[in-house]
Parts: sequence; C-alpha cells; structure tokens
Amino acid sequence: MDRFADLHTHTRHSDGLYEPRDLVDRAVAAGLSILCISDHDNLTASRETAPYARSLGIVLISGTELSCQHAGVDVHVLAYGVDLEDSALESRLASFRKTRDTRGEIMVDRLRELGYPVSIDRVREIAGDGALGRPHVARALVEMGAVDSLDTAFRKFLGDGRPAFVDKERFRIDEVVDLVRNAGGVTSVAHPSVYRDHRHLVNELIDAGIDGIETHHPDVDATQHDYYERLARDRGLFVTGGSDDHGNGGPKTIGQILVPESSIRALLDRIDA
Ligand code: AMP
Ligand code: FE
Ligand code: FE
Ligand code: ZN
Repeated sequence: MDRFADLHTHTRHSDGLYEPRDLVDRAVAAGLSILCISDHDNLTASRETAPYARSLGIVLISGTELSCQHAGVDVHVLAYGVDLEDSALESRLASFRKTRDTRGEIMVDRLRELGYPVSIDRVREIAGDGALGRPHVARALVEMGAVDSLDTAFRKFLGDGRPAFVDKERFRIDEVVDLVRNAGGVTSVAHPSVYRDHRHLVNELIDAGIDGIETHHPDVDATQHDYYERLARDRGLFVTGGSDDHGNGGPKTIGQILVPESSIRALLDRIDA
C-alpha cells in the first residue's frame, strides 16, 4: 500500500504556530508516514524532532525553505536531505538569521517612530530561535492591541511598500544549489506557479541546477500541476509536494495534501530516505 508524505511544513522555528512535536502528532493523526519540517532558513526543527518522529514510526526528512532572489523575483527553494551537521550550511544559515535579527530591530525602530512602541525583546521571544521575520513583528503588534489581526498588521505597516517594511537578504540561486549539494542534499523549487512569468522562471532555475519541482501544493492548480509534472519528467527532475502548513488553517493544513510515496520515490532514493 502506498504511504503518504508531506514535505512542506513550518513550525514555531520559522513562521508557523506549532511546536515541532505538535506538528509530528498532527502528521500522525493525518495518516502521514513521511514528513519534512521545512522551516524558513532554519534546520532547528529537523534536528530537534528526529528522535520523536522516529519513535512514532514517521520518516522525518531533513529540510529547510530558503528565500532566494533570481532575476528580481523572490523565489523559495526547498532543500531536502541535507546533513544537519554540515558546518558550511549551518554557518551560512546563522549569518542569514543574524541579518534577519538586525532587520527586526530596524522594523521595530520604524514602528516606534510611528507611535507603536513594539518591544524587540518580545519580537525575539515570539520568534524563538526561528528566523525572525515580519510575522513575528505582526504578532507583537496584535498582542499590544495596535491592530486586530496579522493581516491588518501587514496591510498597515509591514507589507511591501508600507511604512515599517524593510527588505531582507536573499540567497542567490547558484549559492543555494552549491551550499545544499555540498551538504549532501537536493533542491526543489517551492510552489512554482506563484511567481511572475513562472514557466520561464522555472526553466531558468533548472538551468541553474535546481533538482526538483514542488508539483503538489495548495497554490498549484490542476493545470499547473500537470504542466510541471511533465516538465519534471522531460528534464529528468524529481517532484516534491506538501501542504505548506503554517498552523493558520485553510487549504494549507497538514493532511490536505497527501503526496503518495510512489510519486516522490526518485527523491527518496536520491537522499537515501
Ligand atoms: P519575511 O520573510 O520576514 O519577509 O516574512 C514573510 C512571511 O510573512 C511570509 O512567508 C508569510 O508567511 C507572511 N506574510 C506575508 N504577507 C502576509 C499577510 N498579509 N498576512 C499574514 N502573513 C503574511
Ligand atoms: Fe512562511
Ligand atoms: Fe514558500
Ligand atoms: Zn513554506
């Protein structure tokens, strides 16, 4: 019988709401056998959760979702099967998180100037040891009663071009391809259909050395799914997939996307999972 996988989820260590163990429990409840916690720019959950997942008979694949920029477009690249002890990867992720922390300070300074004295300590607390980002600042704004929802926080203050918006550092695609490969892992372009001029873009990413395409994702509709499945076959890439659960409900919820093990067999073989 085919088992099921979800290779795209987030926890408190990035911008998700659940504790890693909680997410593993939810994966079990949803009938999944293979899971990857792909927190943004962070491997902490993959590291922390491995023994617990194993004790429940879940195959936990190490991974992270990296924020990249290519030809002026923000692109998310999933990394799978990386060595969690690889020092080059970890030190690059650490420097990346450091610049995110500094960016958090700047956002908080801007908000203070706008009359909303958000505490950077509180933002750091909310972020935990995750990659500090706008969702954490947004949550602090909700907590202090400055706005009624995360969405309002983005619309009023933190969204692109809004008064407390600060741009962030991003990886170059070629850097990510090398970094992940040298750490023994492989890359897959996340939610391919969300980018501007995405069919052209994804071809360029493949030329740059990306190994796979996330064809199963709530934002990839049936037409795009079929297109990218065919492209993966034609170009000899594997496919990946997952719910992109952040704990916020809706279609991006663990259990909503059940990827059959058979469809990710090529990936699993490649990373010895
Ligand atoms: P950052 O990486 O710090 O720029 O934050 C980007 C993250 O903010 C995305 O991954 C989303 O999870 C979240 N985000 C972006 N826009 C919104 C919004 N309107 N409401 C809630 N969360 C958002
Ligand atoms: Fe996210
Ligand atoms: Fe993403
Ligand atoms: Zn994601």
